[in-house]
This record gives sequence, structure tokens and C-alpha cells, in this order.
Amino acid sequence: MNRARVLLLNAALGPLDYRVPKEAQVVPGSIVLAPLGPRQLTGVVWEPDRLESEEVGDNRLRPLIHIYDLPPLSEALRRLIEWTADYYMAPIASVLRMALASSSALDGARTVTEYRATGLVPERLTPQREQALERIADRQGLVRELALAADVSEGVIRGLVKAGAIEAVEVSIDDPFATPDPDHAPPALEVAQAEASGEFVDAVKARDFAPYLLDGVTGSGKTEVYFEAIAEALRQDRQTLILLPEIALTEPFLKRFTARFGSEPVTWHSGLRQSQRRRAWRGIATGDAKVVVGARSALFLPYRNLGLIVVDEAHEASFKQEDGVQYHARDVAVMRAKLEQVPIILASATPAIETRQMAEIGVYKQVKLPDRYGVAEMPDIAAIDLIQDPPPRGRWLAPALVQEIETNLERGEQSLLFLNRRGYAPLTLCRTCGHRFQCPNCTAWMVEHRLVHRLACHHCGHMMPPPRACPECKEEDSLVPCGPGVERIADEVAALFPEARVAIVTSDTIWSPAKAAEFVGRMEAGVIDIVVGTQLVTKGYHFPNLTLVGVVDADLGLSGGDLRGAERSFQQIMQVSGRAGRGEKPGRVLVQTHEPQAPVISALVSGDAEGFYTAETEARRDAAMPPFGRLAGIIVSSEDLGEATQTARLIGRTAPTVENMAVFGPAPAPMAMLRGRHRQRLLVHAARSLDVQDVIREWLGKLEWPRSVRVAVDIDPYSFL
Ligand code: ADP
Ligand code: ZN
Repeated sequence: MNRARVLLLNAALGPLDYRVPKEAQVVPGSIVLAPLGPRQLTGVVWEPDRLESEEVGDNRLRPLIHIYDLPPLSEALRRLIEWTADYYMAPIASVLRMALASSSALDGARTVTEYRATGLVPERLTPQREQALERIADRQGLVRELALAADVSEGVIRGLVKAGAIEAVEVSIDDPFATPDPDHAPPALEVAQAEASGEFVDAVKARDFAPYLLDGVTGSGKTEVYFEAIAEALRQDRQTLILLPEIALTEPFLKRFTARFGSEPVTWHSGLRQSQRRRAWRGIATGDAKVVVGARSALFLPYRNLGLIVVDEAHEASFKQEDGVQYHARDVAVMRAKLEQVPIILASATPAIETRQMAEIGVYKQVKLPDRYGVAEMPDIAAIDLIQDPPPRGRWLAPALVQEIETNLERGEQSLLFLNRRGYAPLTLCRTCGHRFQCPNCTAWMVEHRLVHRLACHHCGHMMPPPRACPECKEEDSLVPCGPGVERIADEVAALFPEARVAIVTSDTIWSPAKAAEFVGRMEAGVIDIVVGTQLVTKGYHFPNLTLVGVVDADLGLSGGDLRGAERSFQQIMQVSGRAGRGEKPGRVLVQTHEPQAPVISALVSGDAEGFYTAETEARRDAAMPPFGRLAGIIVSSEDLGEATQTARLIGRTAPTVENMAVFGPAPAPMAMLRGRHRQRLLVHAARSLDVQDVIREWLGKLEWPRSVRVAVDIDPYSFL
């Protein structure tokens, strides 16, 4: 009798055994459809000796319904799924789900019906219909996808189909992807670049695990260098996975990739339509998709024949997933490279201390590019002391910075003002009674967004129109914005330089790859003089005529108890500085600060990155903080305050006494309320040698709490909110 142990896509279930129908065959990794009560669930056949299951007699087994005609998940991927579930203490089915990330990829259909605008304006044009047509523009997708994009109900879309304003199109979904050509347009590399790329090319040829840190200043040609490694993987007919920290970076990347290789890579991110996801998934599983560029979720896809992994901007904190399976894509990527026996390149101008330390102790091999490509020089960085040289009252740009912007305008060069705050003002209060607008669901202020005339919570998305009267004291026209966001800086710039053409770049204005492309086009055409942007503009872009960067508030990330606060500020300012002077014209950077003596600022100004990193690293070593010690957060949340507090206390009270481990808390989280849930935190601090996961599993495994309480364990946490 032929039995199979199957891991089902249901986090609440353990693996179950099934009977394999006579004429069928399965191997570990086979993707199957299995019965569960009256339902049918997708699952993957697993090695029985790796996953325990309840003993069930042969006669009681139900047969599998279907075995999909798809390549089985590889052994390397199965081990990666197990490792991720184990390390991050997540249900293994939740990790498996990331590998099987397109349910439509499994079925055999080859076409799908999508919808798009016809250009016809319906006779009856309601505001909803107008909004739908405007937002859909040249988008195409399922009714549900269009409704989502346009923020209207599916009924509105269907109505527009009836009215002839939207039409159905049959789309063939499994067209093969173009194969990038390794010899399409290779660059002439400089000596240091050629040395670096030679090393990577050899590693790809060697077909073995080899982790690299590619540490090169902004504009040194890191991308060009790892492109040569991709070219080698293409010659070997093997796949490459490139992870980028944000979808917004994809657009400029695609352009460059296409210029180098003659065709686009396959993209994978949350913005894909269902049909695109399916096509990409199948291409990845069959090996037809040769180069895949994606956000962190691309990491778990079933590559048929992986030859290389690249993590670009590897220091970025957004590689850490903060909900669901709380994994760090950079770290899991290294594990995948190890299991797949392929090289991995972590590229960064400002590597994380964790990564530098791995290079330091020789686990990662460090490859350096110390200089910018061509004649471009690193920009000069200077601080503006806001106490000595403050902006006028109610304004945020110091005279020295304003002067430089003016000079740049006169020269016809572009400037970038960086402030990592969306919206107009981070806080609104009543001048009469002091009332502050707080989100009803979160411990957070409502942020004014003047462009769309809303107050919004950046944590849960709650929105409201700004009221005319204070809800507390009923005084009219008494509300005042406090502090600046990018919109307010843009206003200030417009008032100072009415003739300048200003663009605001945040996730509110650049919310699609098309918008990003449009922005790049306008910058290149020179129709923007001044960009005011959030961290979205700090990375990836290459504008030769951008010669001035102003950091509006360098102190922003430095307060608060975040372990990586100083490091992150340093990285962010280095990255945004890296946008200046990338062409023939030299760049300069002005950093506004109240604390020019702070180590971060003085390191930036003196150009002493090494000194800064050394001091930070030693401070971490002294405190046994990561990477020298380990942390785990335990976050207890419930809609009921009492329940959350009681469960957190129970967990705190039962903390085991283990050598080399200390437990702090519980205490209300800094974000004491999030999306309507009360939150308490505990922090586990342990020596590197300790298997914290095991300790926590045993500790929490013995406890019980109400079903409405959620207890999340965050291994190697990046957020302490
Ligand atoms: P990084 O990724 O290190 O910031 P990039 O790879 O983006 O650097 O390189 C910066 C700029 O210099 C890009 O416009 C790139 O095309 C160009 N560049 C770098 N190296 C070369 C080269 N060898 N030949 C031609 N252009 C190059
Ligand atoms: Zn909120």
C-alpha cells in the first residue's frame, strides 16, 4: 500500500497521512490536493521521518484527490521551509504558503478573463464611476483587482462593463519569458570592478555555497559588478534571484537590467495581478524564468535551478517582515544559498553591523569598491547647526540651506530635500484647549495630509476629514499643525522660490511602478528643480544633474531606545547623500541638526565611517547586543486590556531561569495600542550560544491563554515598538 505524508496549507493542522491512488505516483515535494472532511486542501508530500504525524491505520486512510502536474518542491526548498519555521517559531504551513504563493498557478487553465477601460465615457457618470475610470487608466486585471485599485465596489466595475466603458479581454497566461542575453551590452569595467566581478563569476562557476559582502560606496558600480555574476549564471543556464527592499526600486532597476541584458527580468511583488503571479510562479517552477527580481516574498518560491542570489541594499530594515511569519529575508536568503549550494552577494554601501561582523570573522568574504565610477567624487557633507543658524519662526529650512538651494536653481542644477515624514504635519493640536488628534485604534497621532485633505493614521490607515472645530472645546478654526512633513517643506520651498518646479516623492505620490517611471522621466528631462522626499528617494536613483542634498532633520531617528537608531540614521543619511554628485558635477550635502557633536553627525561630516562603525560595534559587544548576543521579543495583544495584561504577567511570572538568559518585562509596548489591540511586550536577552527558540518553545508550550489573546514571538527583532 502506498502512503504519503502531506503537509497541508492550514496552519492549524499538523501533517496528515493519505493513500496514494494506484495509478498515481508521488515523491517528496509533490504538490497534491487532499480531502479534509468535506473540504479539499492543497498540500505537499513530505518525508515521513521529518514530520511527525498521528498513527493512522492503512484501512482508515483517505485517498489523495489529485497530484498536480508540476515539478515537486526541491529538497533544498523543503529544508528551507523547515528551517524557517523552526528558527522563527512559525507554523510550517505558513512558511509553505509563501512557497505556494499563487493558487491559480496550480490549475491547468491557460487563459483568464481580465478587464480594461475602452476609453468610452458612459452616459451616466457618477462620482464613483469617474473615480474608477480615472484610477484604472490603462490598468488591466480581474474585476476584483480593478475595484481594489480604484477603491470602489466590484458592482461599480461591473456597471461600467455593462455601460461599455470597460471591456473583457482573454489573456493567455503562460507565455514563455524572454531569456536575458548575457552578452547584450556588457560594460567596460574599471580595474577594481573587474577584480570584484571576476571573483563572483568564479563563484557562480564553482556551484558551491559562498557568501559575499559587496561593500562599495554609492555610485561605485555595485550593480554593474553583480550583473556580471548574473551573466555567468545565464551562461550556465541557471536562475538568479535578486531581492530588493522595496517595490519602488524595481522600476529604475528594470530599466538598467534591460539596457544590460536586452530583456526584462521577471518581477515578483505584492502588486502583481493574479495572472502575472501565476505566470511568474510557473516560470520560476519550470526554470523558464531565468532572472527574478522581487521583494522579500520572492525568497520562498520554488526555483527549479538556482545559480545565484543577490540581496541589494542588504542593510535595509524592510527586509525584516513584521507580521505573519516574522522572518528576515537577508538572513533566510543566506540560508537558502547554503541549502542550494550557490553563491550569495549581499550588496550595500552601508552594510549592517551584523553583516560587517560576519565579514570580520571571515564567514562572509568581503569585496570592496572604494571609489565612485568614472570621474564622480563622493559629495562633501557639512552640518548646519540649527541652534547657531536657525530657520525663521514657523519655518524649517535654515538660511544656509536656502542659500545653497538658490545657488543650485541659478545654475540649473537639481536639489533634493530629505525628510522621512509623509504628510503635512505629524501632529495637529487645538490652540485653545491643547487637544491632540490621536488615532482611535492606535497609540499614534493622526497625521495631516493636506494634499488629500485628510488626517490619517500611518499605522492602521484610519482616516478622517480635518474638522473645522475642535472636538474637545468646540472652538472653531483653532487647530494648528505641529512640526513638518514633506508637504509642509514643499510649501515652504514654493513660498521661497515661487518659480521653482517642486515634486513631492513619497509612497503617497509614487504608489505604482508607472508613477515611479514618470518621476524618473521628469527628473531626467529636467522639468523638476527640487525634490522633497522621504526614504523612498534615498536609494537606487541615479540623476547626474542632482548636486545638492539637504537633510531637513538629521536628529529624527536618534531619540528613542532603538538598538539600531544611530546605525539606521547613519545609513539613511549616507544613502541620501549618495544621490548627490553622481555625474560629472560634484555634489554637496547639508545636514540640519541640533546636535552637530553627536557621533553620527560628526562621523558623517568627517567622513569617518569606519570610526563610527567601530564605536557602534564595540558598544554592542559591551552590552552583548546583536550580533554578539541574541534578542527575542514576545508581544502579547488582545482587544481586551485585562486579558492582554494578565497573559503577559503569566508569561513573565513563569519565565524559566536559564543560564545566559534574562527576561525583561512585561511592560506596555511603546505602541500600547495598535489596530484596536492592547499590547504588552517582553524582551528575552540571551547569549549567542543559547538556543533561545527551544527555551521559549518549552516555556510558552506549557501555558494557556484565552483564544482572543495573540502571543507573537519575534526572533532577532528590528522593531521595539
Ligand atoms: P552602485 O550600485 O554602487 O550605487 P551603480 O552600479 O549604480 O553603483 O553605478 C553608478 C553609475 O555608474 C550607474 O549609472 C552605472 O551605470 C555607472 N557605471 C558604473 N560602472 C560602470 C562601468 N564600468 N561602465 C559604465 N558605466 C558604469
Ligand atoms: Zn491607527
